[in-house]
Amino acid sequence: MKRPIIAIDGPAAAGKSTVAKKVAEKLGYIYIDTGAMYRAVAWKALKENVPITDHARITALANRMDIRFEKTNGEQRVIVDGEDVTEEIRTPEASRLSSAVSAIKGVRKRLAELQRKIGETGGVVMEGRDIGTVIFPNAEVKVFLTASAEERARRRAGQLREIGIDADVAEVAREISERDLRDSSRSEAPLKQAPDAVLIETDSLSIDEVVEKIIALHNERLASQTADPGSTT
Ligand code: C5P
Repeated sequence: MKRPIIAIDGPAAAGKSTVAKKVAEKLGYIYIDTGAMYRAVAWKALKENVPITDHARITALANRMDIRFEKTNGEQRVIVDGEDVTEEIRTPEASRLSSAVSAIKGVRKRLAELQRKIGETGGVVMEGRDIGTVIFPNAEVKVFLTASAEERARRRAGQLREIGIDADVAEVAREISERDLRDSSRSEAPLKQAPDAVLIETDSLSIDEVVEKIIALHNERLASQTADPGSTT
């Protein structure tokens, strides 16, 4: 039996990566951060001085880029054309630009192909904005993770400080709300909750509590598949 796909979507800084990584670790599944892929395209466009208005060139960049996830000392690294860009793709500039490049149809098409290829065999925890709606609409487990804007800004500022970026909470709040607005109002695969996704509001939950909830959803799903292997719901 194919192992489940766990799709985790939600707005910026809702804790998707932290939670998705832990869920994947506990289940022995592959973890895929699709936001890192959009960030990688943004990073490359910045590096090659391609203006964001030049959709054809940015799409061409995305089509020829090699994006890989590698594990080094237990940590997932993002490698673009052989270069480790794990930290560089997290700067506020790359964040802003990632949201702009993610609205380009050709970029989404290319990254969607890669994401489907990685996830098709199952046993994967994939997080992003459109995983449960567009990439894997038949994912066995779908979660929409969110938290209040204040809580998300506070968490993201803390993460940025950890990687040596001096972040002001008010500025981070502005940056993530601009990104959420752009991500949810674009025409291509906008950020929205899939009708059959389970909403988890994380303000008053610990990371481990959120992880446990998702594992429980996964186990319920596995149990129902085992009881009725023909079932698709
Ligand atoms: O998840 P993260 O904040 O790293 O994503 C960076 C940006 O990539 C998001 O603001 C969004 O514009 C874009 N993204 C997307 N679809 C995904 C994942 C990320 O459009 N599946």
